[in-house]
Amino acid sequence: MTEGYDAVIIGAGVIGSALGYELARHGRRTLNVDKLPAAGYGSTSNSCAIVRFSYSTRDGVAMSWEGQHYWANWRDYLGGDVDERGLAEFIQCGTALIKKPEGGHHERVIPLLDELDIPYEDWSRDELVERFPMFDPSVFGPPKRPDDGAFWAEPTQQLLGAVWTPDAGYVNDPQLSAHNLQRAAEAHGAEFRFSTEVVTIHSEPHAVHRSGRRVTGVELADGGSATAPIVVNVAGPHSGVINRMAGLEGTMRIQTRPLRHEVHHVASPPGVAYGSTGCHVQDGDTGIYFRPESGDNILIGSEDPDCDPREWIDDPDDFDREITQAQWEAQVLRLARRMPDLGVPSQKRGIVDLYDVADDWIPIYDRTDLGGFYVAIGTSGNQYKNAGVAADCLRELIDAVEAGHDHDAEPLVVTGRYTGLAIDLGAFSRNRDVNPDSSFSVNG
Ligand SMILES: Cc1cc2nc3c(=O)[nH]c(=O)nc-3n(C[C@H](O)[C@H](O)[C@H](O)COP(=O)(O)OP(=O)(O)OC[C@H]3O[C@@H](n4cnc5c(N)ncnc54)[C@H](O)[C@@H]3O)c2cc1C
Repeated sequence: MTEGYDAVIIGAGVIGSALGYELARHGRRTLNVDKLPAAGYGSTSNSCAIVRFSYSTRDGVAMSWEGQHYWANWRDYLGGDVDERGLAEFIQCGTALIKKPEGGHHERVIPLLDELDIPYEDWSRDELVERFPMFDPSVFGPPKRPDDGAFWAEPTQQLLGAVWTPDAGYVNDPQLSAHNLQRAAEAHGAEFRFSTEVVTIHSEPHAVHRSGRRVTGVELADGGSATAPIVVNVAGPHSGVINRMAGLEGTMRIQTRPLRHEVHHVASPPGVAYGSTGCHVQDGDTGIYFRPESGDNILIGSEDPDCDPREWIDDPDDFDREITQAQWEAQVLRLARRMPDLGVPSQKRGIVDLYDVADDWIPIYDRTDLGGFYVAIGTSGNQYKNAGVAADCLRELIDAVEAGHDHDAEPLVVTGRYTGLAIDLGAFSRNRDVNPDSSFSVNG
């Protein structure tokens, strides 16, 4: 059966669902299609859902600061208590960005926080330990693997301190947050179809630009199809698969690739209720990030330091979902250096999922060379926090381009609805030069 829509969104993760909501409440008849059984069951479900503002570029920091306000105003943004399952919670535990004596990421971040007037405190080492006495403020870096003889070397230097952003935090249930967005979208007439795979993207010669083509809809694995003048690729780690389906391979200067990533869970050290009293820490000195997790656990991710192998994945439907002993030890023992009382459990706990990494670890929010076909991809392990603002930006982009605006020649600048900050969508273009200011890591 074929049904007609104003827009089909491929994917119902946190960003795809937010886009469904944003387009539907601005009057478009939308359909989100997802091959998994519910909203947010893809990479969103395994997101650490950390909301921080410590990016390397002005546009990255502006997006994330604007993005934070959607979480801080979650109920209002959604239009009330829209979900029978309840609403996801934004826990503002703050972020401590570790300052290394030899310099590092904080040197890029501080001027950007100043420029954008984002509240922060510049803590000394003593202030860091006063607030979080469970931390050893020694320098252990540069990051190493535990099988490197220098891993356990006696430290000879101390950290400088930390940049403290009190408004940062994490969302307690990322899958629920995508479901909240689904319900908010449905309240405006949006439709969601699950356990349904998009297998073909249809197009026809462009009526105006004779050399080009324009999307007309999608075909589904169950034999159904949907027509729409607008189709958006929000397929997470499958973004490359969907772009190939649309015939767009080789048409974008910035490419995306799936990268395997492990996140581990450990119990707080004895006598420390890290789940309720801890903060999110960006520890470039040891090469990890960590944050409180429910049940007085600690969640540990990796900043992918150079010494760790990067595992690029060819087929996003085929990768090892088991935690490896080597990476478990690397991440947990790195935390044990920063938190010396941490017990190192013999039982491995955590998750494995894929980042959809762009060449410069900055997302692509853009139109494409196929008329009516848009992308919100390359989210590089760091765009959960931006779901609301990314959806707003894409909706404005779609409205402008469909009304005839030449976004490639004159990139759209969106005004953040909460902060009033200017967000230049040229920074997220598919055809930008690789951004040399990027950290080329999850820090964007
Ligand atoms: C381990 C991990 C930790 C992370 N931590 C953070 C963090 O702390 N902070 C942060 O800001 N970001 C983080 N991220 C990144 C963030 O989670 C993602 O950027 C975000 O969830 C992407 O949402 P999405 O909607 O674009 O994609 P996804 O949630 O991946 O959704 C894409 C959907 O598309 C569907 N799909 C794919 N192909 C098809 C098809 N052919 N037909 C139909 N459906 C299809 C999939 O089933 C999937 O549900 C992390 C990511 C990972 C993997």
